[in-house]
Amino acid sequence: MASLLIAGNWKMNTTLQEASELVASMKPRLEAIADVQTVLCPPFISLPVVAELLRGSEVALGAQNMYHEGRGAFTGEISPAMVKELCEFVILGHSERRQLFAESDELVSQKLKAAIGVGLRPIVCVGEHLRERDEGRANEVVETQLRGSLAGLESAGPLVVAYEPVWAIGTGRAATPDVAQAMMAHIRQILGALYGDEEAAAVPLLYGGSVNPGNTSEYMGQHDIDGALVGGASLDADSFVEIVEIAAVSKT
Ligand code: PEP
Repeated sequence: MASLLIAGNWKMNTTLQEASELVASMKPRLEAIADVQTVLCPPFISLPVVAELLRGSEVALGAQNMYHEGRGAFTGEISPAMVKELCEFVILGHSERRQLFAESDELVSQKLKAAIGVGLRPIVCVGEHLRERDEGRANEVVETQLRGSLAGLESAGPLVVAYEPVWAIGTGRAATPDVAQAMMAHIRQILGALYGDEEAAAVPLLYGGSVNPGNTSEYMGQHDIDGALVGGASLDADSFVEIVEIAAVSKT
């Protein structure tokens, strides 16, 4: 069984002050919840401050992106080793990166290998657009993204996969638990074909897309859902803590 993991993606939100206040209000409450790995993913610029606040804590830190090259003339980018100095996790291939910054599966696969190479745990995001679902191509699109993003990865190892249907992100239109579970089973099957059933079973599969305290237990009740990648609701301490509390109870 994969371990239970809830990650909060703060996206391009929070000043240093706001990030500090958010962590301060969540940290003791998150630490009181057993058996859930929680990960906070603030903007790059807040990572050092948040890392300091989380020093010695079970609450882990993640970056929202990174570049795959080790160093050099890549203005504005952050290297895997820089991320690893502060973080345990890194989100890769989020749909906003794919859509707004033209990240391809090939680039995601380069980043993935570089992340694992420095000892980071990558949270690789996949998910179809509404048009693709309406055309009955959701499984095919997600399979292509997943296989492309994992290209050249020989073992699943520290991998985490987040299924985030693009139409459900930030829209309040969450996928039904059945739809999410069906895609997770599909993803688990693909991972099984790539790495064998035992390794596939150990990969945490997160659902993402308008997760909130009201729908968390339904997702966590699904066989192949091992956690959530939370956007909007992770910016509110009460909501995020509640999501983690509900997940902890639902999965035990
Ligand atoms: C996300 O951006 O990863 C996400 C799931 O956002 P939201 O929870 O706001 O839909």
